[in-house]
Amino acid sequence: MNTRLNELLEKLDVVAGDPDGPLHDPEMAELARLIRAQIIPLPQAQYVNSRGTICPNCGGSDCVTTDELSLEDGSSNVFGNSSCCDCEATWTELYQLMGFENLKR
Ligand SMILES: [Zn+2]
Repeated sequence: MNTRLNELLEKLDVVAGDPDGPLHDPEMAELARLIRAQIIPLPQAQYVNSRGTICPNCGGSDCVTTDELSLEDGSSNVFGNSSCCDCEATWTELYQLMGFENLKR
């Protein structure tokens, strides 16, 4: 991973993406996001912090959707099929059943 390139592209995304900034240019912000997505996959932690609202392929957040979650047979793993209508990428979100709480009897 080229950290410096990532820093510069992130800065470009922030500066050009700021609607109140003097260098506001949505196309330049989009270009920075697309380049970053091509060379640097979205870190898992960033995806988790976004609560799954950022596309790990293009970095867009306008139309990321996840289907109904389903529990894998014989395990505590939970899956949800996700997609992005901007770039048409698809991926699987991973969850884990942790237990239960607030039992009322
Ligand atoms: Zn996308």
